[in-house]
Amino acid sequence: MFLTQEIIRKKRDKGALTPEEIQFFVRGITDGSVSEGQIAALAMAVYFNDMNMDERVAFTLAMRDSGAVLDWSGLNLPGPVVDKHSTGGVGDVVSLLLGPMVAACGGYVPMISGRGLGHTGGTLDKFDSIPGYNTVPDNDLFRKVVKEVGVAIIGQTSNLAPSDKRFYSIRDVTATVESVAMITGSILSKKLSAGLQALVMDVKAGTGAFMPTYDKSVELAESIVKVGNGAGMMTSAILTDMNESLAPYAGNAVEVRGAIDYLTGKSRPARLHEVTMALCAEMLVLGKLAADEVEARQKLQAALDTGAATERFARMVVALGGPANLVENPDQYLAKAPILVPAPALKSGYAAATNCRGIGLSVVSLGGGRRRPTDAIDFAVGLTDLAGLGDRIEAGQPLAMVHARTEAAAAQAIAEIQAAYTIAEDKPAANPVIYRTIRP
Ligand code: URA
Repeated sequence: MFLTQEIIRKKRDKGALTPEEIQFFVRGITDGSVSEGQIAALAMAVYFNDMNMDERVAFTLAMRDSGAVLDWSGLNLPGPVVDKHSTGGVGDVVSLLLGPMVAACGGYVPMISGRGLGHTGGTLDKFDSIPGYNTVPDNDLFRKVVKEVGVAIIGQTSNLAPSDKRFYSIRDVTATVESVAMITGSILSKKLSAGLQALVMDVKAGTGAFMPTYDKSVELAESIVKVGNGAGMMTSAILTDMNESLAPYAGNAVEVRGAIDYLTGKSRPARLHEVTMALCAEMLVLGKLAADEVEARQKLQAALDTGAATERFARMVVALGGPANLVENPDQYLAKAPILVPAPALKSGYAAATNCRGIGLSVVSLGGGRRRPTDAIDFAVGLTDLAGLGDRIEAGQPLAMVHARTEAAAAQAIAEIQAAYTIAEDKPAANPVIYRTIRP
């Protein structure tokens, strides 16, 4: 038996908490016996005094065990249960491609994804733009689709890691989100509750990243790899660039269109392809579906070339209630905005930098994201044909095409995009797309 205030005092005084103390506290978060003030106090103490790796593992496991933990063993799946998670980005359509590609190579991907947060897009919102697609199936249907198709991308249910939901909502309003220890626990408790054998984490770095600096992105990636493996899940992290939109499009329906074009081979933007292949290959190697990265890439390329990945995507859409001919006829189903106008460059030169967060926020202001959690999303709006860093642009040429609901929204987005691009006389040095891979 512990006293909650003594646990807080210990962390306040820079002590290391025992697994039992952490379990006691997290149980109290879940059952309400620890008050909001006490949770806020502990969060602030951890913010300043941190948690060592053992504390982080104990904290993550306690949060995992605060709710249901999915168990796939009863299904006798012939391949590994693997997933990817990203810290969030702009034009990051990777999940829509990666799930079907890995499934086509023998993996099983029960992907529990989130909604857009801040300036970043959410995979769940993208799937909601497909008419009929059910992002909240019951557990039986979720399991059936994972078993039969190899991939199901759905939304978070309230019974997975419920302590994180309460803890996060209190961190959010007490200026304590920005702690690598607590971010690690928050992300990994949810992923561990999905019963994964292996996880590849895409940690973004750059002007559109959740972490404020490159060094903080590295610190988070290293923490996630240590704690994930410490909690019994094979975990790697890949540090990827988010100094510009990953795909040359950002929004909801426009990203689903882009995903279909990628899978069918109509258009495979280079940066998107590089990140997707790297994450998928790491998943195949961790899941022992390929001996090494070279073999993994060959299998993934074959899954694309033979149409096997497209077929998995199409089957998942149908199994979860979407249209049978979405891939053949996306225009019949995906919403289109009434206004399509260019955002012209204000001067000539090279696209030298983007405020990627600003690009993401312009999608939000078009209606493609939420200002308040209860807002409805306009699936049709967004950006396409985004100029890439290093592109030469003449004054008056488009930096992007704006898909808007109203003239006023279009005008605002144009101004935001113009402000987000730095145009310079000299061609900038190319940013790497992949900075580092971090393995245990
Ligand atoms: N995303 C999460 O799920 N949790 C955090 O703490 C931060 C980002």
